[in-house]
Amino acid sequence: QPQAVRTRTAELRDHARTLTPGGVHSNVRLAGPSVFFERGEGAWLYDVDGNGYVDYLLGQGPNFLGHASTRVNDAVARESRRGTIFGGQHVLENEAGELFLDTVGWAERVRFGLTGTEADQVALRLARAATGRTKFVRFEGTYHGWLDNVLVTAVDGKTAPASKGQLAHHLDDTYFLPFNDVDAVAATLSAHDDVAAVIVEPVMCNSAAIMPRDGYLQQLRRLCDRHGIVLIFDEVITGFRLALGGAAERFGVTPDLAVYGKAMAGGWPVSALAGSAALMDMFGGEVNHSGTFNSSVPACAAVIAALTTLREDPPYTRVEDHGMKLMAGIRELALRYDVPMRIQGLPMAFHVSFGDPSPIHDHSGLARLDLTRYAAFAQNLVSHGVWVAPRGIWYVSSAHGDRELAAALE
Ligand code: PLP
Repeated sequence: QPQAVRTRTAELRDHARTLTPGGVHSNVRLAGPSVFFERGEGAWLYDVDGNGYVDYLLGQGPNFLGHASTRVNDAVARESRRGTIFGGQHVLENEAGELFLDTVGWAERVRFGLTGTEADQVALRLARAATGRTKFVRFEGTYHGWLDNVLVTAVDGKTAPASKGQLAHHLDDTYFLPFNDVDAVAATLSAHDDVAAVIVEPVMCNSAAIMPRDGYLQQLRRLCDRHGIVLIFDEVITGFRLALGGAAERFGVTPDLAVYGKAMAGGWPVSALAGSAALMDMFGGEVNHSGTFNSSVPACAAVIAALTTLREDPPYTRVEDHGMKLMAGIRELALRYDVPMRIQGLPMAFHVSFGDPSPIHDHSGLARLDLTRYAAFAQNLVSHGVWVAPRGIWYVSSAHGDRELAAALE
């Protein structure tokens, strides 16, 4: 019933008054006709008209295990019957924490939150409190969260003025350096003694897909040790996705603090800050942190089910294999149809782009995304049932099977 199909989507589009937050919305705009999803299953999304889409945003978001994991959803439903609590520790939180620490391997303490942004913010505050310094080293192209908290903290009348003071340093309080350039970090740390932390996406995954150069993370570790600086890994994307122990395990480098989110709870909203006991045990003193929905029972149940699933059947080799096949397939198609497309990155997250090397990512040679061309490309893919990322990055998840890949490449 193609007529009815068009009508339902069109009707919703014409009357929608609810705005979609987040980057995916720009994809909807880019892709032309809006799509209203009704449900997801495994690697697939289905819209209100029953059209299926292979989801290549899956792996970037929280659904690394695929949509609607029965195991995770059953655990959430079962444990939620115990009710939830506010303002105290639930035994399930402790269980989730133990499993989390055992899975990650290197960290001694963990604290659950709701968003990656929030956990990153707390990590930065801990670093300031631990070092007595205020500045941060950050890198071009890295993403650590949305500017959600600062203004709210400024207007609220409960936070102590001293704590507000901690937050009253903004962009001027960072050294903004190219990713993968260890000499720039070494020079900055030698010239300035006010750096509290270096914060890095160990594999740049959000605004681009760029691997760290060989030895880069080890060199950052050594520099931070030499200067008494806190090394923070933002593993919101890489955590549980590159390996059970994330980038820390994959590259054999232990940070002082690391932030997790997305893949850790099979689609449910949970983030985590993990780290050394010395830093994390500062909680409750100078640094505190709370949120109404942090460590909720459904969230902890989801963490336990998702991590158990990953531990029982680690999907990492499969993800790499699927990603390699997909990249090779897209390259072949680009050649066959003479499309000047570039594909760079790593199998779990790669960048499809048109255009010249980007000034932002010159050091990596990553191509700049020609948005107009990518929009046409994305629209074409969406109309053929392939749901792709707004800015040209494709993420492969453990739910993508060979059948889906073959369908995507047809
Ligand atoms: N850090 C990285 C690397 C991210 O990719 C994101 C989100 O996309 C965040 C932090 C922020 O996490 P959230 O959106 O849960 O606040």
